[in-house]
Amino acid sequence: MAKGGKAVQADAKIDISEKENKEKAELLEKVGSKSAKAKKKQAPKKQIKKKATTKKTNTTKPNSKTKSDTKKSSKKNSQSKKTVSKQKTLKDKSALSSKLLKWYNKEQRELPWRAKPGVAPNPYHVWLSEIMLQQTVVKTVIPYFNKFISLWPKITDLGKASDEDVRRAWAGLGYYTRAENLHKCARLICDEYEGNFPIFAEELETLPGVGPYTAAAIAAIAFDETATPVDGNIERVVARQFAVEDPLPGVKKKLKQLATTLTPPRRAGDFAQAQMDLGATICTPKNPSCLLCPISSSCEGYHLGIENTLPKRASKKPKPTRYGSAFFALREDGAVLLHQRPPGGLLGNMQEIPSSEWTENKEEAENMLKSPPLKGDWWTVPGIVKHTFTHFHLELKVFRIIPGEEAEFTLFADAERCKWVNRDKLADEALPSVMRKIIQHALNS
Ligand code: SF4
Repeated sequence: MAKGGKAVQADAKIDISEKENKEKAELLEKVGSKSAKAKKKQAPKKQIKKKATTKKTNTTKPNSKTKSDTKKSSKKNSQSKKTVSKQKTLKDKSALSSKLLKWYNKEQRELPWRAKPGVAPNPYHVWLSEIMLQQTVVKTVIPYFNKFISLWPKITDLGKASDEDVRRAWAGLGYYTRAENLHKCARLICDEYEGNFPIFAEELETLPGVGPYTAAAIAAIAFDETATPVDGNIERVVARQFAVEDPLPGVKKKLKQLATTLTPPRRAGDFAQAQMDLGATICTPKNPSCLLCPISSSCEGYHLGIENTLPKRASKKPKPTRYGSAFFALREDGAVLLHQRPPGGLLGNMQEIPSSEWTENKEEAENMLKSPPLKGDWWTVPGIVKHTFTHFHLELKVFRIIPGEEAEFTLFADAERCKWVNRDKLADEALPSVMRKIIQHALNS
């Protein structure tokens, strides 16, 4: 019995431990479900916490971001931009070119060198305008283009003109080596090409004064070759279309490559001119009118809201200042002394008011004040003439004299290249803008 009883007890123990286990299991289950419930309850709290962090980040001032935050976000931005760039497919590009050409058909600017619709472009006009437009705006070029065409209607006429006549007609347009190269090129076309321009960009590039841009522009516009000229307007449109944030001038090559991918196989010249017109009228350097733009749907810069910041430019080195003096001699009979500058170099062969050398050394410049071309009593014209060239600023002191008819040249004069010209005829001389400023300054004194 005892055994049995023990056994019963043992069984009872088993029962108890089973009961205990059951209870524990139930308890654990309860606890487990409680903790699961608790976890479930906690999860939203975490989310709220996360949201609060995001909100906090968003409301934090941008400059309080950590460096790693900025890096991460700029990486994220550039990745998203890359993704957008990849999305510009061949189909998108061809849609872009056809939209722009459609717009150009209606909205193109009327320019004196542009052929009317349905008329073949005149290669002489295209070449002349493209040379004149280098570094110069359309508004300035128009009267010069018209003057050249009325003086020399065909390239054969320009080829026969004298150097001096071409310089005179060009005076005031600046970058005078262009005039010399233009004339050389006209002669070459007459002598070696029977008055006809070559049609391919590669050969055009071998002509005097014709660089890769001008060659591509002539080939595309005059001969409908599939060439891609990229000027400042086109650079801007392309940089914005592809949201290119690298700065100019380093990014020029990349922009040219991207521009090439947009050039359609037909009407390449019209497409180039369409981009030029868009850049001049809608996709302007500041505040582009994107709402009027025919290709805004494909413009990454616009979609990212950064169009106004593009293209970026590397900061330029400040221009140095050069100093010098100019000697204005006006006789009582109205004749003004002019000097033809030496060939080559800045303003080569152009006429000038006899001047000293221009130097960055102010002290050296002061010494050159004492080197007038004529003997006599010079006086100082109050004030300074200032002018800016591409690479430097110029400040000139001006001296004036009323010489007698027998006035002698000094040792500083380059007498053989000097001449007297009546002041009424100065407008016909090949005088660059800076010299016209000096004359104006001296006469106003
Ligand atoms: S959408 Fe705006 S920024 Fe883009 S090409 Fe057009 S005008 Fe230029």
